[in-house]
Amino acid sequence: MPSICDVPGCDHTRRRNQRLCGRCYGRLSGELRVAITEAHRQRRWPDWRDACRRAGELLNLGRAPRPPRNPSTTPQRAYELQARLLGERIDA
Ligand SMILES: [Zn+2]
Repeated sequence: MPSICDVPGCDHTRRRNQRLCGRCYGRLSGELRVAITEAHRQRRWPDWRDACRRAGELLNLGRAPRPPRNPSTTPQRAYELQARLLGERIDA
C-alpha cells in the first residue's frame, strides 16, 4: 500500500521514510517540514496533527470545492447560480 502525504487534503504519495510528498515538501517552509517530521518521529500526535493542519491551510488544500471548471461559465455566472442554489436573492 503506498504511503500518502501527511498534509490534509493532499493525496499524493510520499516516500516511505518521509512524511510529505515532493510537492508539499517543496512548498512548505523548513520550519513546518521539521515540525511535521519531528513531531511524528517523537510521537507527539497533537503537535503532529497541528503542524499538518497548518501545512494544509498554508497550501490551501482541503478547502471547499472550486466552482466547476466550465470555460463558458464566468465567475459572475457561477456566483449567480450558486446564489440561486442557496435561495439567495442577489438582485434585491
Ligand atoms: Zn502532499
